[in-house]
Amino acid sequence: MYSNEFLWQVFSLSAEMDPLFRDKHDRFPISQAIHNVTEPIVSERLLELGWRPTYPNNAPYAVVISHDIDFIYKRTEAQQLSGALKDLLKFTLKGKIPTISSFSSSLKSQCELKWPVETVFDCLKAKNIPSTYYFMCLEKGDEDYNYNFSELYSIVNKLIESGSEVGLHGGHTAYKSLVAMQSQLHELQRNIGLKRVGYRNHFLKFNLKSFELMESTGFRTDSTLGFAETTGFRNGMSHPFRPYNHQNDSYFRLVEIPLIMMDQTLYKYMNLSSAETLDVAKKMIEKVAKVSGVFTLLWHNTNFNGRKLEDFEQIVDSMNSDKAWFCTANELVDWYEKNDFFRTQTDLLNSLR
Ligand SMILES: [Zn+2]
Repeated sequence: MYSNEFLWQVFSLSAEMDPLFRDKHDRFPISQAIHNVTEPIVSERLLELGWRPTYPNNAPYAVVISHDIDFIYKRTEAQQLSGALKDLLKFTLKGKIPTISSFSSSLKSQCELKWPVETVFDCLKAKNIPSTYYFMCLEKGDEDYNYNFSELYSIVNKLIESGSEVGLHGGHTAYKSLVAMQSQLHELQRNIGLKRVGYRNHFLKFNLKSFELMESTGFRTDSTLGFAETTGFRNGMSHPFRPYNHQNDSYFRLVEIPLIMMDQTLYKYMNLSSAETLDVAKKMIEKVAKVSGVFTLLWHNTNFNGRKLEDFEQIVDSMNSDKAWFCTANELVDWYEKNDFFRTQTDLLNSLR
């Protein structure tokens, strides 16, 4: 039985205010967590206190499927150019005179459209499931720049028209830079006139200051809060919530939709087989269902092939057969606001202090 004081510390992320160290990506390391992050202990207490959200059609829990669109081309610009220059050198060494057209076709072949967003769109369309896509809006020269957002106009429009949602995937420095965050949002909105925009930072980079930056930049939701190293509940919550603002003892307007499970966590950090992946997913879904929470799943467009696509489909199909409510980030927040769930949740959270 956890004390109220402890649960408040977990919920308010007080351990993240001044950690002993941060990892190489400037993230709060899981080793510094004060609770067992695989259990939604704060959500469980809210239910013990009588709070339990409901969902459309009596769905047992909600699901937000999301995709961070980091890369769509196989090689970066610098690699393309160096590849094309190597081809050029080969030509020259063979005593051939390279023409401009051979150089430009070589450059093109170095830049393969390897992970098109359309693949994700088609997969989810076939299942009639909406999802939330976070796009990067970087400039050439920025770290991990891979595509120009304005060139994706047609697929982005298709996503929105089909009922999916588009948000910003902030670049490497945006989580701590108001200027970077604002200019990337501006680039997104310059291309599509979105008003209620959600956010997730690249590499799940985040610190407590990021909430302030996101709020003042004007984001409605964020879904960065999770651990890259493991699946789970970073602040004990399996429900969307308004984060606590330590600076002025209040709550942000911004809604955090905690990230529960990421593909890269399973494959890269935990190094799981397919059978283990599906087993972990099943257990995590059960924990979410038990508290009528939200299962926020991040699956990159680069993992929509082979075994990883099969894993994704099995996880999604199992939640579909549970009759879970699949929604986008904004739809989830609309539902919580309409039903006054945030106010009733915050009243109970205050009682823990
Ligand atoms: Zn990313």
